[in-house]
Amino acid sequence: MNNKNSNMTVEFDSISKNESFARVVVAAFVARLDPTLVEISDIKTAVSEAVTNSIIHGYENQIGRIKIDVSIDGDEVTIVVTDNGIGIDNIEKAMEPMYTSKPELERSGMGFAFMEAFMDELSVESNPGEGTIITMRKVIGKEDDNWDKELD
Ligand code: ATP
Ligand code: MG
Repeated sequence: MNNKNSNMTVEFDSISKNESFARVVVAAFVARLDPTLVEISDIKTAVSEAVTNSIIHGYENQIGRIKIDVSIDGDEVTIVVTDNGIGIDNIEKAMEPMYTSKPELERSGMGFAFMEAFMDELSVESNPGEGTIITMRKVIGKEDDNWDKELD
């Protein structure tokens, strides 16, 4: 049993000001694992993408609630972003790189692709009319992510 194991939950309104709040608060919590700058930046990007999706797509800019659960188990971080918005009809299609349901807003359809690229694991659960749950996992301290540590 690792005494770093721990978890936290934050819940906030789905307004765009809270995108930066969400990524900072998750990064601050994960800091106890002594992540590299690259790892922290990967996590911040993934959290931003998920939260932005809840704001823009889930709640379509109406104000709802977004919840983030973060748990640390050894060197693994699990981040779960939940909204109670409109949900996703076709998850497979939504996750395709460059697919967006809002091309008129000049979205590029790359949010899920970024979450997938920057985290080790991504899963999406959603029911139309009920909401969406994004679960992302990342192991901190993997050798190939440590190149920036060698600089100091
Ligand atoms: P970008 O992220 O590049 O700005 P995007 O948000 O459209 O564009 P993705 O983040 O990959 O692209 O999401 C793809 C599609 O999945 C969205 O266009 C939307 O239809 C759907 N989607 C994603 N997250 C949610 C959510 N929380 N609730 C409802 N629909 C969602
Ligand atoms: Mg997106």
